[in-house]
Amino acid sequence: MERVPHHRRKANRMSDSSDRAGREAVVVGGASGIGWATATALAAEGCRVTIADLNVEGARERAAGLGAEHAAAHVDVTDEDSVQRLFEDAGPIDIAVNCAGFSNVGLITDMTAADFRAVIDVCLTGAFIVTKHAGRHLREGGSLVQISSLNGRQPAAGMSAYCAAKAGLSMLTQVAALELGPRGIRVNAVAPGFVHTPLTAAAASVPGVVEDYVDNTVLGRAGTAEDIANAVVYLCAPGSSWLTGEVLDINGGAHLKRYPDVMGHVMRLVEQSS
Ligand code: NAP
Repeated sequence: MERVPHHRRKANRMSDSSDRAGREAVVVGGASGIGWATATALAAEGCRVTIADLNVEGARERAAGLGAEHAAAHVDVTDEDSVQRLFEDAGPIDIAVNCAGFSNVGLITDMTAADFRAVIDVCLTGAFIVTKHAGRHLREGGSLVQISSLNGRQPAAGMSAYCAAKAGLSMLTQVAALELGPRGIRVNAVAPGFVHTPLTAAAASVPGVVEDYVDNTVLGRAGTAEDIANAVVYLCAPGSSWLTGEVLDINGGAHLKRYPDVMGHVMRLVEQSS
């Protein structure tokens, strides 16, 4: 595992004057999209952030861009040893945010078990592993935030693994809140709707997909990574100190309507190009 050491992390803690400043944060999957926006927002709040990602080069560039007090590390949430090392190296922390995730698309009757497992491995088992090791290093008053999804409550044809993983993650969040609460650690999740990030770039390139997502919001727009990061910052802040076990829908009201027919758009595109 390649890692940029994060010295200085204990320095200055005692001299911090505000509640928020000087908190230690680890953002898993922090090199891209929602994770990067979250790392940026936490740094702006005065946290010292370790950006941990499968993409260690991206993590390094991002951390360097944030400033010298921030750090980067390699992590693969499907590899428990690497997650354990990440949190042992980080030491006592105040905030852990897990943004690692991906999806694939395919009908259940066509999907291999390996493809199904790959998504569960990152989005659900990976989240369990992060919870386990972050949970051992979070201080009293600490906060753990997972990124679930609108698909944790709305089914989408062609996205069985992702929907199942995110529904499971929402429940994992609640169980973890029960178990860690007695130590003064809060566990919550945010469940975004459609947000433009590298993860959704392929889906967004399919004609009709973004329009359908936006149609199914109440507020008439897709989300930004910053919309989600703002909610995560709130869930990590002292102002939410009586809030735990919550899965916060943040989707422009899309949970009030229906999920877009992503698979239908994909099938139409395939038919047109064949
Ligand atoms: P993203 O831009 O692809 O960022 C995800 C980051 O996680 C990437 O840097 C990725 O690295 C990293 N990652 C992937 N697998 C990993 C692993 N095994 N271990 C460690 N890091 C790993 O995606 P995003 O849109 O910001 O998504 C962040 C989270 O939000 C995900 O959990 C996603 O399911 C959830 N979410 C997103 C949306 C949306 O519309 N964007 C909606 C609902 C929920 P690589 O680039 O090297 O793979």
